[in-house]
Amino acid sequence: MSESDAPSGKPQSFTRKTLSNSDEKPKAPEIYKCCENPQITYLAPVNINIDERTIGSVDVWRCAACMKPFCEEKTLGIDSISDIVGMPRIEDNEKWAVIVSKLQKGKDKWKLVKLKETGMIKFETADEKLIDLKIQDYKIVDDYHSSFLVLDHIHTAVEI
Ligand SMILES: [Zn+2]
Repeated sequence: MSESDAPSGKPQSFTRKTLSNSDEKPKAPEIYKCCENPQITYLAPVNINIDERTIGSVDVWRCAACMKPFCEEKTLGIDSISDIVGMPRIEDNEKWAVIVSKLQKGKDKWKLVKLKETGMIKFETADEKLIDLKIQDYKIVDDYHSSFLVLDHIHTAVEI
């Protein structure tokens, strides 16, 4: 007799098969989670002028919850073909800036970038060369390039 060898009440164990990996949700268009509850609203444009004629603009958006700014570059006459869905990301140690090239003309003369306080930035010229530009205090220091911070020029036009 072995009356004790079938302990009752022990749950049976099953091997469960999951039909699909539940971690892999379909990818929704990414809205940049700048904070817990993003409320991103349009703030203002900064126009880019050459000889008092507007050739492009930077649209500035801001999250009303965490106040983080987002910028989008627009060149007049060219539809936005940006492949960034949702708001472009910016790190806490970066600022939105426009780099102005003295070597180029028209729409190639400027480009929206993110600048760190110091260091170097890789900059792609109109003829697709990568050059290194030096950054000092959120500004480009270079003989042929200059820069300005987008948020210093909200609602204004900047002559480049
Ligand atoms: Zn936010």
